Amino acid sequence: MNEFHTNIPDKTFEKLNSNGDFTRLAVSPGIINKHYTPAQFQTIAKVVGETGAIKYSASYSILLSIPSVVVANTIEELEEAGLYVAKQGPIVAMKACDFCDGDKMEAAPITEQLYQSLEGISVPTRLRLNVNGCASACYNPVYDDIGLVYQKDSFDVYLGAVPMGANAQAGTLFAKRVGVEHIEDLLKQIISLYKEHARPNEPFYKFYRRTKCADYWKDLI
Ligand code: SF4
Repeated sequence: MNEFHTNIPDKTFEKLNSNGDFTRLAVSPGIINKHYTPAQFQTIAKVVGETGAIKYSASYSILLSIPSVVVANTIEELEEAGLYVAKQGPIVAMKACDFCDGDKMEAAPITEQLYQSLEGISVPTRLRLNVNGCASACYNPVYDDIGLVYQKDSFDVYLGAVPMGANAQAGTLFAKRVGVEHIEDLLKQIISLYKEHARPNEPFYKFYRRTKCADYWKDLI
């Protein structure tokens, strides 16, 4: 049994960067798929080697610390192994539940469509969009910036969550039963409002809570 007080990591990202230049990559088997294969783990072990580090995170991904000089080749190798490497920075970043490990895929096509059209859009600060495939909502979409809960060809849309900290709070229901044919358009409008009206570097929850009484929100629904 590990002693808690001695079981601490040697190679944190900060420690590695005090002696070199490392980049952190967030890696997962996919937006929906949460199962790694042994071959993917072998690839991860190979690219990290003796110099880098591996850490699991709360965001459905494994964080790899990689020497910055080899990052481009490493991303290529990880993607060749079928792994998804999340883009970093102030962009729209998609998350999703595992759709019951592929048994409940009704919302998968629209989730993929949203990924193709929204992932990577530049925004004032990173905006997490979390899609869950049924009302069980077991991957906590209401604790992300925009939470979508699928039910019978439609989504309930939650906005304004404070995702962490002592004041963490779930988002509130913004729109109920938005048809799958309208959801992409609604999300694009929300993202446009954020880009247009947010203060510099203002997180989405602060922006939404500050502006939610403005007329431009009422025009959306
Ligand atoms: S939210 Fe629903 S579809 Fe998604 S993993 Fe949970 S039970 Fe399955």
